[in-house]
Amino acid sequence: MIEGLQGKRVATQAVHAGERAKPDGFLPMATPIYSTSTFLYDHLADIDAISSGERQGFTYSRHGNPTNAALEEAVALLEGGGFAVSLASGMAAILLALLAAGVEQGSRVAASQELYGVTVKFLLDVASRWGAEIEFVDVLSQAGREALWASKPNVLLLESLTNPLLRIPDLPALVREAHESKARVIVDNTFATPLLIRPMQHGADFSVHSATKYFGGHGDLTGGVLVAQQQYADEVRHMSRLVGANLGPFEAWLTLRGLKTLPLRFRQQCENAQILAEWLSSHPRVEEVFYPGLPSHPDYSSVKRLFGNAGAGGVLSIKIRNAGRDEVFRFVDSLELFLKATSLGDVQSLVLYPTISSHRDLSPKQRQRLGITENLIRLSAGIEDVEDLKSDLSRAFDRLT
Ligand SMILES: *Cc1c(COP(=O)(O)O)cnc(C)c1O
Repeated sequence: MIEGLQGKRVATQAVHAGERAKPDGFLPMATPIYSTSTFLYDHLADIDAISSGERQGFTYSRHGNPTNAALEEAVALLEGGGFAVSLASGMAAILLALLAAGVEQGSRVAASQELYGVTVKFLLDVASRWGAEIEFVDVLSQAGREALWASKPNVLLLESLTNPLLRIPDLPALVREAHESKARVIVDNTFATPLLIRPMQHGADFSVHSATKYFGGHGDLTGGVLVAQQQYADEVRHMSRLVGANLGPFEAWLTLRGLKTLPLRFRQQCENAQILAEWLSSHPRVEEVFYPGLPSHPDYSSVKRLFGNAGAGGVLSIKIRNAGRDEVFRFVDSLELFLKATSLGDVQSLVLYPTISSHRDLSPKQRQRLGITENLIRLSAGIEDVEDLKSDLSRAFDRLT
């Protein structure tokens, strides 16, 4: 508090009154929301020392903020290494990862063909404008991997658990092969979360998250986190300051709060997804279930090997028997607990129709090639009682006939 405010005029009092009280022997248990653009010091020399990197501290929230720093420390710890930067969205984290990985004019970016639709668009509409050459590769087959390395990419971008068919690439092997080829690896770990796999521990250069999904987990924020190995610290911080896509402190606070219950939520989501997948497998209206926790899934054996005993994730997809677009619309509209939301990972169960949402921009032929048929829907298990979720689905199936 500025001394002698009582003696100042009202316009001055209104601006300065009540601010900058020094904590008196207490510590807030939860990190406060530091909703401030700048940070004050008694001496200009302090700001100079922080700006030169001689001393740690905060000067301007685009460069760093204590609420965000708390979140970043937590995510880096959960991811098993490196350091983290929190960003305004998952897409901002992908942008920053590509920049920090050195993607520029002439770079060759190998991208898994199973990427999130907007990531594909970003590569084609933005990264290619930088002059990068983008090729879509099959990281799941031996032949695909041989072709991938033969093309000598500079960067490999892939997801540790894909959408919507829940494929699981062999991340440890791909990172090893990438580094033998001197390529950098960016892993989008949104669907798996650090509870299933920790890309940093497998040596990935970068790991990105849409915090909008499992980290936040309550459908109340948009955010992203980029985790990087320590060797990229200067470059990531430099690029982050220039791009300015930093996460607001309120969203950082919500995400940090979300992380506290992530293990509990995710355990329940995995359990619910597993029970639903097994139940749906024998449902007469279901043609096929895609869930890596089922022995029928091509990557069933990878679950134990790569994810340990944590589960097979909270998302599953199903093909509804003898259903076209009209039947899918009727089925989805009949659901009450599964909310029609273009997201995943929330405490609420969610349903999404890839043909008109995540994969809308692809041609019918491209969708067909990726196995995304007109009767495929994606379910994100919430933390509700699974018996109620089954009843909700049953009722919607009944409305189909
Ligand atoms: C949602 C999502 C993104 C993009 O995240 P936003 O927070 O929406 O920008 C990226 N990758 C995956 C796998 C996602 O599910």
